[in-house]
Amino acid sequence: MTRVPKVIQGGNYQVTGYKTRKWYRPPTQQEIDAFEGVHVAGRYRRCVQIGWRCPCCNRTAQELIRWSFINGHTNRLKYGDEYGMGWTLALIEHHCHSGDRDGWLPRFPVTLICGDCNSADGAAKRKLRLPEWWSFSPIEIKQFVTCVPHSGKTVIDYEKANKIWHEISLREIRASVSRHQMRQFFQGR
Ligand SMILES: [Zn+2]
Repeated sequence: MTRVPKVIQGGNYQVTGYKTRKWYRPPTQQEIDAFEGVHVAGRYRRCVQIGWRCPCCNRTAQELIRWSFINGHTNRLKYGDEYGMGWTLALIEHHCHSGDRDGWLPRFPVTLICGDCNSADGAAKRKLRLPEWWSFSPIEIKQFVTCVPHSGKTVIDYEKANKIWHEISLREIRASVSRHQMRQFFQGR
């Protein structure tokens, strides 16, 4: 959906468009200090306390804060401007979907990662047309995703992601499934 860009002035900065240019400017130190974590407040507080960093992109919880559209009506009213924009972040529990299948164990434990790295996992799976049950582990995501502080701009090296998928999936499949299951797997792709 295309929206007509509009420019509004806000203090010493401009916000251009609606839900656009999410990484337009970094927050000031005062804005970081005042930030409460919006919809993941408790999780955000704990991450700051323990000096957590995203295991994929290595950003701290505070470096994830960025200007974006705020999800949820109540939070939007509380933290958003008249366009629903405000300071926000995403912290996600990343699951291995391999464990969803009968007889298969997850390849990695549930791990807290940032929303951008979690989205990069989904984007790589869609682009490479990988099966539903496949999830890249945080260590694998780290190898093909690049993010910068206070930005939603994610650079994904799809070639690298594809190489990881081929190397790891084939190795694990060879090690753990029968010849019959392997034939089913390749026919199902
Ligand atoms: Zn990350």
